[in-house]
Amino acid sequence: MPLPLSGCSKLKFPNRRWVFSSSGGSWAQLAAAGPAGRKMKTAFSWVFNLVFPEQCRACGRPLSELSRVPVCSSCLETVSPLSADFFCVMCRTPFNTAFPLDEYGRCALCRNGLQGFDAAYCYGAYEGVLRRLIHLFKYERIRPLVGPLSEYMAAALPREQRFDLIVPVPLHWQRLWQRGFNQSALLAEALSRRCGIPLHNALRRRKPTVPQAGLSASDRRSNVAGAFAPAWRCQVFNRRVLLVDDVMTTGATIRACARTLKTAGAAYVAALTIARADRRQGLAQPVGNQEASAC
Ligand SMILES: [Zn+2]
Ligand SMILES: [Zn+2]
Repeated sequence: MPLPLSGCSKLKFPNRRWVFSSSGGSWAQLAAAGPAGRKMKTAFSWVFNLVFPEQCRACGRPLSELSRVPVCSSCLETVSPLSADFFCVMCRTPFNTAFPLDEYGRCALCRNGLQGFDAAYCYGAYEGVLRRLIHLFKYERIRPLVGPLSEYMAAALPREQRFDLIVPVPLHWQRLWQRGFNQSALLAEALSRRCGIPLHNALRRRKPTVPQAGLSASDRRSNVAGAFAPAWRCQVFNRRVLLVDDVMTTGATIRACARTLKTAGAAYVAALTIARADRRQGLAQPVGNQEASAC
């Protein structure tokens, strides 16, 4: 059955923008004012396009609406929730058949208590337009995308779940200095505002890890082993924690963070990501080619 779309907000991208017309009267009046008017128009357009880009960064089509998000509404609306005929009831890993699941609907990792977290939610598969949006946000530093991306996350969160705290997956200070921001922290802040759940930086990354991209599943596990520790003012004892990251690939980072939170006394830890790697196509995209996870 398809994963339910029942989050704490409904997607509403179409109302976000101001519509403008490039053939409006003011442009025509400026052009008609002669060379000085045309120069003014060129200068104004240059500054204007710097703030409001002309082309959608996902599909390349001209943008006909004003927005700091350089992606057209049709691309934002193209992104669909992950659907599966079979999935693990705990970690939501999608499967082609029911074979990997036990009678309670759990996969082998969840059945054997190896996940570290109690549940995992995500909005979509880490591919296509959603993958492009995450790359624009994370690697091309287009921060206004935090709005639509956090909206996807909120939609993936089941309404019946109650959480005391939202905790972002932390970056090491060296990586934070290089990138200039922690994408998981920005998503967690936006989600906190949207859903009214307090934000708490309960974790710290105590050693710099190499980027997870390009590593095998076992290398990813050893890369993050011992990488996380409770922050100085970590207050998760007996709390229900929502752990936020951008993408779940093998789940190694999220498992390491969840175990740290559980060790610090958290009563329940659920992970929420925008997207997850979907391996149902026989690992069509090897792990090494997926730039993902919290690093
Ligand atoms: Zn587009
Ligand atoms: Zn599972």
